[in-house]
Amino acid sequence: MLEYRAPTDDLNFLLFDVFRVQEAWQDIPAFADFSDDLIRAVVEEGGKLAGGVLAPVNQAGDQHGARFEDGAVTMPPGFKEAFAELAGGGWLGLSGNPEYGGQGMPKLVGCLLEEMFWAANTSLYLSGTLTVGAALCIDAHGTDEQKSLYLPKLYSGEWTGAMALTESHAGSDLGIMRTKAEPQADGSYRITGNKIFITSGEQDLSDNIVHLVLAKLPDAPEGSRGISLFIVPKFLPDADGNPGERNGFAAGAIEHKMGIHGSPTCVMNYDGATGFLLGEENQGLAAMFTMMNYERLSVGLQGLGAGEIAYQMAAAYAQDRLQGRAPSGPVNADGPADPLIVHPDVRRMLLTIRALTEGGRAFAMFVGMQLDRGRYAGDAQAQAFSELLTPVAKAFFTDRGFECTVIAQQVFGGHGYVAEWGMEQLVRDARIGQIYEGTNGIQAMDLIGRKVLRDGGETLKALIAQMREIELTHHADAVTEAFDRLESVTDELVRRAGDEPDLAGAAATSYLDLVGYTIYGWLWARMADAAGEDGFGVAKRQLADFYMARLMPMTAMLAQTALADSRMTMASDAI
Ligand SMILES: Cc1cc2nc3c(=O)[nH]c(=O)nc-3n(C[C@H](O)[C@H](O)[C@H](O)COP(=O)(O)OP(=O)(O)OC[C@H]3O[C@@H](n4cnc5c(N)ncnc54)[C@H](O)[C@@H]3O)c2cc1C
Repeated sequence: MLEYRAPTDDLNFLLFDVFRVQEAWQDIPAFADFSDDLIRAVVEEGGKLAGGVLAPVNQAGDQHGARFEDGAVTMPPGFKEAFAELAGGGWLGLSGNPEYGGQGMPKLVGCLLEEMFWAANTSLYLSGTLTVGAALCIDAHGTDEQKSLYLPKLYSGEWTGAMALTESHAGSDLGIMRTKAEPQADGSYRITGNKIFITSGEQDLSDNIVHLVLAKLPDAPEGSRGISLFIVPKFLPDADGNPGERNGFAAGAIEHKMGIHGSPTCVMNYDGATGFLLGEENQGLAAMFTMMNYERLSVGLQGLGAGEIAYQMAAAYAQDRLQGRAPSGPVNADGPADPLIVHPDVRRMLLTIRALTEGGRAFAMFVGMQLDRGRYAGDAQAQAFSELLTPVAKAFFTDRGFECTVIAQQVFGGHGYVAEWGMEQLVRDARIGQIYEGTNGIQAMDLIGRKVLRDGGETLKALIAQMREIELTHHADAVTEAFDRLESVTDELVRRAGDEPDLAGAAATSYLDLVGYTIYGWLWARMADAAGEDGFGVAKRQLADFYMARLMPMTAMLAQTALADSRMTMASDAI
């Protein structure tokens, strides 16, 4: 059975020893009431919910899956009750706007909770994250009336959210979408078109489902500048704000797929459905990016959560399973064999997962801090850093997270491949993180093109300069060398990009990984510095040493591949 225990000691270490949140929040009055004790209690309670309520129904969700019949979706056994606890506990409104019933908690804390919810039950938490994302988008772009109507219901989870962008011929390239929106005399719009792959587009967890749908007005400009965003609720709210008349859209089917079987991936048919404009006409893609940026970080956290639960399962297994003898002599001389944990190669696997997952968690919190500073302290540079790092968080966490589930599966040998232990489910469920919310290839293009080359690498260099200001005791030379390398690769890409049109695309994934491994290195050095002298602290420093010795060297290789001549990729006759 899949079991999950919230890593609260590790989370508290990051919050209070590494990032010292109270100091970081000194100039944010909105956070004045969030004492260390309060944050600790929130993390503790969130952990209990994840381990005690969400995780126990995870495997049943995979086995039963979401079911579709006559346009209705039935969620797997136990999901409705578990979602009711997630929603009823106020967890979906944690970082929401307090004016409308949210709790206004820092994003940095939200990241930790989300990681736990994802780890415990990816399929179920998808309905949660889409609800949080829809609320964020309405809060950022809605009218006062829209906010009053929708936000309290979304924060409480009575209503849930769905995000409807993709069409069968329009995935990464949303500019070519066809769904139409015709203005009506009463100010609403008639939405007509077909969307595919819409997560939680239909389900039986909530009283209403608020779809945020991208569509084109009749006279819209071509391409991505002609897309508008609409609120399209399954039941049109009546005069009292309760679910009223059924709107003109329905699910036509759900997909059969590799993993996340408990999450319905719906074909949605909008047949003259009533929609309400959210934000400005033809500015829909930019507005939707509010939701997508949130979702991108959140999906990144899915990757971290996958790595964490996979580690927990594999570490426990490696302590129990007896095979072979330790190279340095038996440690279980009275038994038939030693536990797997004595073998250097098994330890390499477990330490790799831990180093990547904990490095990623620190990175997520760092991004969360930048988001908080941008939003609540009006810090424009922090906002720019969060935008720079969001594609890295999405792609690097989910690529490494998938890798971690495969490594953990390997620790189980053949028992990882069969269904009994749940490891193959973790691998299948983690895979989608690399694909949805903009594929990881698209994230890499976003990083290198929009976030780095466009400003000649200025934002990235400002970030590195700020990171260099923190004096490091442990691993200072390795971090300095990696920063120097990243700066020089960036300079060379900026210099060559004008003459080599395919350079950015050819270098993108190596470059994103280079940024990821480099910043993880800086964060591991910071964790080593913040760790105390007790057993916990010593173990953290040992893990930092492992990262520097075994994973940080990836930066040298990636620097080389990022700078490879793009003509080799484009001129190849091999494909
Ligand atoms: C389980 C699941 C749930 C989903 N949930 C939702 C949802 O809730 N709402 C929603 O709207 N969508 C959802 N999606 C859709 C998902 O976001 C898209 O599948 C994804 O964005 C990729 O689009 P595509 O499948 O059309 O692939 P394509 O766009 O056809 O891409 C195919 C490949 O080509 C690459 N590629 C494409 N264009 C470029 C380019 N310009 N440069 C470099 N490489 C490129 C991609 O990286 C990818 O590797 C979901 C999908 C799945 C499978």
